[in-house]
Amino acid sequence: MLSIDHIFQALESPKKIFITTHQKPDADAIGSSLGLYHYLKLKGHEPTVVIPNELPDFLHWMPGIETVLNFESESKTCLGVLKEAELIFCLDFNHLSRVKQLETPIRNAVQPRILIDHHLQPEPEVFYAGTSDPDKSSTCEMIYDFIIQTGDKELINDDIARCLYTGTMTDTGSFRFPATNANVHEMIAFFKSRGLQHSRIHEDVYDSWTENRMRFIGYAMYQKMEVVHQGKLSIIALTEEEIKPFNLLAGDTEGLVNMPLGIQSVKVSVLLTQKNGIIKLSFRSKGQIDVSTFSRQHFNGGGHFNAAGGSSEESMEATLTKLKTLITNIIP
Ligand code: 5GP
Ligand code: MN
Repeated sequence: MLSIDHIFQALESPKKIFITTHQKPDADAIGSSLGLYHYLKLKGHEPTVVIPNELPDFLHWMPGIETVLNFESESKTCLGVLKEAELIFCLDFNHLSRVKQLETPIRNAVQPRILIDHHLQPEPEVFYAGTSDPDKSSTCEMIYDFIIQTGDKELINDDIARCLYTGTMTDTGSFRFPATNANVHEMIAFFKSRGLQHSRIHEDVYDSWTENRMRFIGYAMYQKMEVVHQGKLSIIALTEEEIKPFNLLAGDTEGLVNMPLGIQSVKVSVLLTQKNGIIKLSFRSKGQIDVSTFSRQHFNGGGHFNAAGGSSEESMEATLTKLKTLITNIIP
């Protein structure tokens, strides 16, 4: 993979650009995609954001969200856009398996693929150029850096700032995780100097729950949270039958896995949710416990050192037995 500046020349003339991000997109995935979308539009390009599956409900207000195409429900249109595109931007993921059904079309595409991402263990051979930096707080911060690098800082408007603020806010746990360095605060200071209304974004993302979502989280915490291994490990396992009655919307389980870390003794929190027979695992840890390697080695996953995900096609019972046997080995 070449460095990102190798695409600057291609961006000097108007291009049709396909922007995509990981499945079950979160605020960093959507915020970085739309932040880049608004920037490329200002530069005279024709960008389109295509996501592998459903948008989380709490991002419906984001500028440009109405233009986003969902591959699961509009695959023909999306394939048409991909065919016409001259460049493909891959944001907030680094393995093509992360785009689910979009993997084959993207892998077979002849156009240059450009990576902007902050996860561990990239697959650099499939990208023509890009930037991969696990020390970055968020892909949104990396889009900001990219715009600065192109010399277009002055083009950053309210739409771009709102999109990039949102993903940085969520990926840093509201500016508390260690990757929240001076560059992040300087970026926010710049957005504020341009008039960004940040409180509204916190409300839109964090205070926009349905009553149903709140009751589901209450149920998961009260009835389903298991705290074991001398209080150091929390596991919440939710089967398809348990989840169904709550009629959850996309994004309704977001944040649940972080909650048990609020217990002083808990060092690792795991959330298992079953959908269409497949179990999705989410891992969070405190300090020097590497859940990314664990998830990659045992659950076909990956992510960041302290926040990772994976999956299992076995039953909930078998998955829990495997998880409990293995995970205690990484908790001192
Ligand atoms: P979450 O638990 O919020 O779904 O994911 C935590 C982090 O791990 C995110 O940065 C996400 O992109 C990454 N991640 C989640 N699931 C997977 C997976 O199956 N494979 C890989 N490589 N990364 C994942
Ligand atoms: Mn991210």
